[in-house]
Amino acid sequence: MSRRAGFANPEYLLTLTAVAIFLAIAVPRFLQARQRARNLHALAVVREALSRYAADTKTKGPVELSDLAKGGKYLKALPELEIPGHHEPSSEVHPMSSEDTGGWGYSAWPGDPRQGQVWINCTHTDASGRAWNSF
Ligand SMILES: [Zn+2]
Repeated sequence: MSRRAGFANPEYLLTLTAVAIFLAIAVPRFLQARQRARNLHALAVVREALSRYAADTKTKGPVELSDLAKGGKYLKALPELEIPGHHEPSSEVHPMSSEDTGGWGYSAWPGDPRQGQVWINCTHTDASGRAWNSF
């Protein structure tokens, strides 16, 4: 009886199964982490633009968040947020919205303690269990 070099069939299948299980766990986690990083980067970019706008105009921010993208001085465009499994990709702005809509939340209302602030308008949680609107 001769044995071929390399994996015998059961060993090969076991290894293949282990690799498949690893990929089934690792790939979604990697994709979630990548999307989380993109969303938080987008938030940081918009906050930075908002901060420059506020400093330049000596206000708490524009009336509309999309004003940051007018003329391209502060932003070329509002970045798109994507919260997989909960919302379609969106760069829509929901002023003072308490609804969970995805996209951006922004308040320009003078009586609002959040006036001039921007947030991710989603109460769902990311992979680490933190609500998107808490960043
Ligand atoms: Zn949500």
